Amino acid sequence: MGNYQKAGERMKEIVVISGKGGTGKTSIAASFASLAGGTAVLADCDVDAADLHLILKPHIKQRTEFRSGHRAVIVNSKCTGCGTCENLCRFDAVRRAENGTYSIDPVACEGCGVCVRFCPADAVDFPEETCGEWFVSDTRFGTMVHARLGVAAENSGKLVTLVRNEANKTALKQGADFIVVDGSPGIGCPVIASLTAADAALIVTEPTVSGEHDLGRIAELTKRLNIPTMVCVNKWDINRSAADRIVEFAESHGIKTAGRIRYDKAVTEAQRHEKAIPEYSEGGISEDIVSIWEFITARSGCDK
Ligand code: SF4
Ligand code: SF4
Repeated sequence: MGNYQKAGERMKEIVVISGKGGTGKTSIAASFASLAGGTAVLADCDVDAADLHLILKPHIKQRTEFRSGHRAVIVNSKCTGCGTCENLCRFDAVRRAENGTYSIDPVACEGCGVCVRFCPADAVDFPEETCGEWFVSDTRFGTMVHARLGVAAENSGKLVTLVRNEANKTALKQGADFIVVDGSPGIGCPVIASLTAADAALIVTEPTVSGEHDLGRIAELTKRLNIPTMVCVNKWDINRSAADRIVEFAESHGIKTAGRIRYDKAVTEAQRHEKAIPEYSEGGISEDIVSIWEFITARSGCDK
């Protein structure tokens, strides 16, 4: 994971996260983007399954390759077939064909560089890997920084850090008030990269057994990272007692409840029309989301 650098102190960075995918995290992040009224820069840090672009329809202004790590490649014309690389590779990535030639399985190679260092014939190339792309785009709600990780590519934590750093630079340049981050789900490296040094985290959860369990895990993580944390219960009215338990759990762990969002078919309709929820509906669900946005911005010291 790379180092996250906070470029400016004035703007506030709010990260929307969830214990797993499919909780409504992205719909809520997109709603916040619409409610910020052009004062936010948006960062899609769910790089393994980016879908904020489906709602925000970005117009790409800048596209850059994301390079990270190396992969070993044997140059057959130089290889003497000594087998040193095969013996030394701890990841069983070196293959010996029946005709005695050697090659490296690009999926198994971890890029440790041992074969490069010890090949007596200097026959192993070690090019940098292109793992994906990142973009700076215009959207109807402001500038968005987002990325696409290549198939089977790793280093998503590093790419998340890059996206956040670029969003931070853009926000500073534009004098933005907020950075709204659609964070990675779960508790692994990408979500840690999404959260480190953020001003506030909003955990989106649902009133289910797995929602309660995931909240505990992610709350532990935000506590360890010392990020002011709030929770919102999405579709709270499909299981009111579970929603109450989530709120009790949160409050007993020092996590503020930013609000509850009712179940509403308008969410699916808004997605189908590629709109943020408050853009699409003036109903109760939008009031729920507006109230949560106001709660968060007030708590983050950035209400305007
Ligand atoms: S160590 Fe070098 S020369 Fe020996 S088999 Fe591997 S690539 Fe070929
Ligand atoms: S770089 Fe490391 S993992 Fe890849 S083939 Fe060489 S020794 Fe094996």
